[in-house]
Amino acid sequence: MKAYKFWFIVGSQSLYGQDVLDTVDERAREMAAELSRVLPFPLVYKVTAKTNREIADTIREANYDSECAGIVTWCHTFSPSKMWINGLASLQKPWCHLATQYNVEIPNDEIDMDFMNLNQAAHGDREHGFIGARLRMPRKIIAGHWQDQKVHKRLGDWMKTAVGVAFSKELKVMRFGDNMREVAVTEGDKVEAQIKLGWQVNTWAVGDLVKEMNAVTDAEIDALYAEYESKYDIATDNTCAIRYQAREEIAMKKMMDREGCKAFSNTFQDLYGMEQLPGLASQHLMAQGYGYGGEGDWKVSAMTSILKAMGEGGNGASGFMEDYTYHLVDGQEYSLGAHMLEVCPSLAADKPRIETHHLGIGMNEKDPARLVFEGKSGPAIVVSLIDMGGRLRLIVQDIEAVKPILPMPNLPVARVMWRAMPDLTTGVECWIMAGGAHHTVLSYDVTAEMMRDWARMMDIEFVHISKDTTPEQLESDLLVKDLIWKLK
Ligand code: MN
Repeated sequence: MKAYKFWFIVGSQSLYGQDVLDTVDERAREMAAELSRVLPFPLVYKVTAKTNREIADTIREANYDSECAGIVTWCHTFSPSKMWINGLASLQKPWCHLATQYNVEIPNDEIDMDFMNLNQAAHGDREHGFIGARLRMPRKIIAGHWQDQKVHKRLGDWMKTAVGVAFSKELKVMRFGDNMREVAVTEGDKVEAQIKLGWQVNTWAVGDLVKEMNAVTDAEIDALYAEYESKYDIATDNTCAIRYQAREEIAMKKMMDREGCKAFSNTFQDLYGMEQLPGLASQHLMAQGYGYGGEGDWKVSAMTSILKAMGEGGNGASGFMEDYTYHLVDGQEYSLGAHMLEVCPSLAADKPRIETHHLGIGMNEKDPARLVFEGKSGPAIVVSLIDMGGRLRLIVQDIEAVKPILPMPNLPVARVMWRAMPDLTTGVECWIMAGGAHHTVLSYDVTAEMMRDWARMMDIEFVHISKDTTPEQLESDLLVKDLIWKLK
């Protein structure tokens, strides 16, 4: 991933004299340096802004710097907002307004009118907030002391989200074949997705992949096989099946890397010339940060790669998921998530096993190798992006993942078990009402707040199903949103 940076622009004006401006400059420098040590990306102090020209020039520069993933603004003193209008109106990067102040406490003895003139963020940030509201600009507002760990966490999460925006705008998705026949929710307007989200979604022939597979050498397969052995427990004698998956992985990776693609999809209905659906191959590609969607689902594939990029270390614990079946015993209601093969090992609680089993669906001549494991427990989210016709809707549901309550010894795939919020059946009613897909991205390290911020930056509809959601409230919210998005 690129060496992304964020720019710190501090508002002031010339009214206070050079001494005050020098102090503001010195403090801004100190704050940027200290914050850069605790945040996931560097915060680069650019300017103490005093004029329309300075702000417009800095923002123009930010727009054209491909390493600048967003700007953070703060008004140490009062900074009259008319001088921000021209710059902000041209801003094309994510914006966070950090409403903070240098000092943590009001100094009882020291405070006098000079102190008051220097430390005016409490009203300076309100003037700044007005122009953001007046311009109707999408922005994140974080209030709190700049040395507070809660502020660091939220600012860090916002930075990761802004990197998710930069990643999305350059994302290329490789489709091997089309969508599964007759399926509605995996369809969508690829032109609209590119206009709104930046995704370049295009198709390559499965025949070309097979040609690439045939050119993979034994030495390449040996090397990847050794990597599988080092990461996973091999629980099958069918070495041929594992080697075949290695061949598929190497070929897909070569094709994606050649085109700069970070996500892919395929379908069991189109395996022309392949003897197995990629299982282990897709899983190990996901572990390396590539997005994946089954049955030609390019939207969930793209979202998987974006959530991975937004996660810890730029390749977090997020993966392609599908609600399969429920445990509806009173007081013990859970959803069982899995897929026919392709669950990302970043979701695993323990070291995954490589197994081979028969796969009845599709045209598999041979039994595909796949990673089998249980998912981690803990709070998580599931995410679905759907095309409503004329707009995209992002649905996020809070879930509580648990250690699967049953061993399910005959289930031949990786599995994750969870309780949807507010409770399983109400959560299902809400999800179905909002039109959420059967495919999702499940993430342990991206939060609902991050996805809300991402949707705001992308200017798409956002629906959050949480512990406080009721079907009545959701129904009226969706009705209002339908009207708003028709007007937009
Ligand atoms: Mn599926």
